[in-house]
Parts: sequence; structure tokens; C-alpha cells
Amino acid sequence: MSALHAFRHLYVHIPFCKHKCGYCDFNAYAGMDRLMPDYVDALERELVFARERYPFQQLETVYLGGGTPSLLPAPLIARLLDFIRGNFNLAPDAEVTLEANPASTDEARLAAWLEGGVNRLSLGVQGFDPRALAVLERKTDAAQATSAYGLAREKGVPNISIDLIYAVPYQNRETWLDTLRRAIAMAPDHVSTYCLSFEEGTLLYRRRAEGRVPEVETDLQWDQLDAACVELEAAGYHRYEVSNWARAGGFESRHNQSYWRCRPVYGAGAGAHSYATDGTSAWRWWNIAQPREYIAAVPAPKADGEELDARKAVAESLMLGLRTAEGVAVPGGFDRELSHLQRAGLVRRIDGRVVPTRRGLDLHNQIALAVL
Ligand code: SF4
Repeated sequence: MSALHAFRHLYVHIPFCKHKCGYCDFNAYAGMDRLMPDYVDALERELVFARERYPFQQLETVYLGGGTPSLLPAPLIARLLDFIRGNFNLAPDAEVTLEANPASTDEARLAAWLEGGVNRLSLGVQGFDPRALAVLERKTDAAQATSAYGLAREKGVPNISIDLIYAVPYQNRETWLDTLRRAIAMAPDHVSTYCLSFEEGTLLYRRRAEGRVPEVETDLQWDQLDAACVELEAAGYHRYEVSNWARAGGFESRHNQSYWRCRPVYGAGAGAHSYATDGTSAWRWWNIAQPREYIAAVPAPKADGEELDARKAVAESLMLGLRTAEGVAVPGGFDRELSHLQRAGLVRRIDGRVVPTRRGLDLHNQIALAVL
């Protein structure tokens, strides 16, 4: 193995939530708020250990994801942000994102986030239609989302992204169009739209299996995705990734681009994943998921990991790069797969690059299957 490339991207996982939403299979836990101070201690210890053990250079992005990072009380998040700035070299124009739930976006926290260098909020709105929100078991409503957004703008958050979910049982074209239009009317800088998936082990999965929640027809999913493309593009957002739209002026998520471009990302916290490369092979590892066990295991909370040999690393960078409109430079050794994808109308080759077509973005799972 040659020397690892330095980490310039940091992900920090905050696993606490007020309530576990029925559709959620993220590493998130309700009823553990008492652990927050010990958890932040543990994060700091893991980060000190990581900094000594791995090469870090000036950080270009920091992303606090969850869970619900906005749940951390103002003094605790202020301390964590301060710690990160004091122990890592943050680029002056680093993108620092925090995922926030509208219900925990208040004045005191916003002040702590801004003071701590957060310059991008990813607001978990998910929708405006009460029926869809009820299926998702979201406890926040449209009024809360609108007022949290307004407060964040008023306090000066320069870059705000909104998450929306489509293909929710009972959601129809009209309610989805209304959701999209209300989101656009708020004028966010970035919009993510995720197709609801029924993940095994979730409450929603069980409810569907028991027939208490209806199936969503595939045609309806396509129809809603298409509506998102039409509405968002007409409003000046460009689709730069399968599920992500940004307004002009550089509002693409720089942190998420680091994943799609297979840049090294250090992930700290319970269940967080890290990705490292020496330019040929790559390594991925992940931490213990359960917060109490994570705290006990710090400073070395790694649960497991895997090495990707050179071909697998290229296949993965091709698969991830083809999630984005910019695509990737045509890699060697994948002619057969790329010709197949081209014949299927999923990719095009332009000037030494391979990029997904609109169909390729919509059907990225077929690209992933062919490449991996
Ligand atoms: S708030 Fe987000 S992370 Fe927490 S349970 Fe709900 S969907 Fe999952």
C-alpha cells in the first residue's frame, strides 16, 4: 500500500432523534438525549485519535448529519463546532453543513450554529401534505417547516437545502405538485427529493406487509419524479445528481460531491463510515452503530471494514460518478459494461467522459447493477 491520500472532508454523526419515524432505517435513536454530553466527549476523543493516526489536510467540508444534529442543545453544539475548528485546519471557505429538523431550529441554536461556522443548513421538511407526513410519522408540520426556514434566513444562514420525499402512500400528483410548489416558493438554494423506500425492519415496512398501508404503483413513482424534474427545472434548479437539485451559483452540496467523486472522507461517530484511498486501492470502514457501545469503545470505535482492490475501486467510482450529471472520465477496463449501458440509453460518451442520460439518472440502479 502506498501512502493514503489526506482527508479533506469530515462527516460527524449525531444519532439522536426526538422520535423514530416509521420509515427510517438510519442509525438514529429516540429517548437517548441523556447520552448527549458523553457522546460529544466521545466524538472529541475519536477525532483526536483520528487526527494522530490518519493524514488530514485543510478541510474543505464538514457535515454534521444524523439522526438530528439540531437536537443538540446550543452550548453542546457550540462546544463541538469549536472543537472541530480548534483541532482541524478548516479552509476559510469550507462548507459546514448541519442537518436540522424544523422543530429544533430555534433562535438560540441558530446563533450557536452560525457562531460555530455553520454556513449551510439541510432542513428535513419532507413534505407539506398532512396525510403524507402522517404516513411518514413526521411530527413537524408545514407551518413549523415554513417558520424554521424563515427564521434561518432571517438570522443569516446563507445556504439552505430542503429535503422532500415522494411516492408516499396516499400522496397523489396534485398533493406532490403542491408540495413542490410550496418548497420552490420558499426559494431554497438546494432541494433533495427522495423516493420513499420501504426498508425491512422499519415500522412502515411492517405496516405495509400487514396491509395497513397501500402499495405505491411504480407508474406513480415515475410520474412524481417527472413532476419534480419539470417543476424544479422550470424554477431554475438543475439536477446535478440522481436526487439533488441546486440553483445556479455553486449551490451543489460540496460534501456529498466528495462521496460521488470518491474522495477520502473521515466519518466520526456512531455507525459513521470512512473511505480512504492510496490512489489505487481503497478502504472503507465503519464504526460501532449503537451510541452506548460506541462511547465505550472510543477512541477506537471501528466495527469492521473492507478493502476494495483496484478494479473494485474503479467500478465503485464509476457507479458513484454516474449518479452525477458531470459523470466521470472514461475508465479503462469497462468497455463491455459501458457499451451495454450506452445501448440501453443510460449513458453517453462526450469528450473522454461518460455521463448519464436523463434515463440513466432516473434508472441509476440499472447502472449500478451493470457496473458492479
Ligand atoms: S428525524 Fe430523520 S433520522 Fe430521525 S428518525 Fe426521523 S427520519 Fe430518521
